[in-house]
Amino acid sequence: MAVAQEIRCSHCGAPVEFEPGEIIATCKYCGFTTVIETGQTFTFEHSLLLNKYDETQISEPIKDWMQSGFLKPSDLPRKAKILEKNLIYLPFWVISVEAKSTYKGVFERISPPVVKEGTVEKEYNWLVLAREAAEFPAREYDVPLEGKIPFDFRKIEGFAKVLNSEIDMDEALQLAKQQIEAHHRFLLQKDVDRIIDLRTEFSVTQEVYLHAPVWFIKYEYKGSAYQLIIDGATGIAVKGDIPSSKFGLF
Ligand SMILES: [Zn+2]
Repeated sequence: MAVAQEIRCSHCGAPVEFEPGEIIATCKYCGFTTVIETGQTFTFEHSLLLNKYDETQISEPIKDWMQSGFLKPSDLPRKAKILEKNLIYLPFWVISVEAKSTYKGVFERISPPVVKEGTVEKEYNWLVLAREAAEFPAREYDVPLEGKIPFDFRKIEGFAKVLNSEIDMDEALQLAKQQIEAHHRFLLQKDVDRIIDLRTEFSVTQEVYLHAPVWFIKYEYKGSAYQLIIDGATGIAVKGDIPSSKFGLF
């Protein structure tokens, strides 16, 4: 990992550490957020989702996950050993947007093929992870936005880590637009086999910078290490590696 750099927090004067590539940093002493490049105050809404678990309590949702679902080995809750439990507040951009795609395509499943036109119109709170290279399945994360409060550094646990943003709002908006259009293309597969023309109009109603508590759990089972990701606001497993059960056929 590259060496951390430092700027001064313009609110409390404390050093604000950041790493190369990070462009928005939050002071861990006062919660003030600064745009690193310009040194300007971050003027957009900065929100926080509260974490419900401490390092002991997180064992409950871990156990629940291990016990549920028929794909898991039945001795998993008993035999699994927790190696690491890390609470990380991940930065996201939440783009509230109405997206309307107008399409023209060919329906080729019948003969002769027919040209179809239509629209797909949907509203989203589209989530963009504000990190370049994070192994986090943002599409599988149903962010519980109802619980968000204005960012408050006093609510951040001492043992937790807060990651800064590496993506600015404009970039997040571009990503969201691309991802939404790709999603609409995917949805259109049931109506048309080949898209000739697709145009999407976006009407953005809100853009929020959000830190959400995510537990990264590493556990060991029968000599191998696995990862489990749990939403700290709800206790819901976002994604988990499941050891393949050996059914012992022979
Ligand atoms: Zn500060």
